[in-house]
Amino acid sequence: MDCIFCEIVAGRLGSDQVYSDDRVIAFRDINPAAPVHVLIVPRRHVESLLDVDAVDAGLPTAMHRAVVEVARRLGIAETGFRVIINNGEGAGQTVGHLHYHVLGGRTLSDLL
Ligand code: AMP
Repeated sequence: MDCIFCEIVAGRLGSDQVYSDDRVIAFRDINPAAPVHVLIVPRRHVESLLDVDAVDAGLPTAMHRAVVEVARRLGIAETGFRVIINNGEGAGQTVGHLHYHVLGGRTLSDLL
């Protein structure tokens, strides 16, 4: 399977990792839209939100826990942060491996 996020999870492609646990890993976006821009991805390949339950019903909880942990570690828990999931091509999903964008470190009035 040709998936860059699977390559990152496997350690075959480098990333600036900021968090990991048994279900998910989090690393900085290569093209950040904010001072803090982290991607949280499941270790197992899940194409999109539509497939989450079939793969791992506990995954949403793990993803949300990772969001909070990343926000705390990177100092944006108190100042505010945004979580974005682009689901499907029409929504701008360019990598077919589910990922949450966590953005913070500046005022995000330009987004949504
Ligand atoms: P999306 O458009 O929602 O699918 O987001 C994909 C994100 O992955 C974009 O923000 C890219 O900048 C980011 N990205 C692509 N390749 C890498 C990589 N090798 N390491 C870190 N982030 C990446």
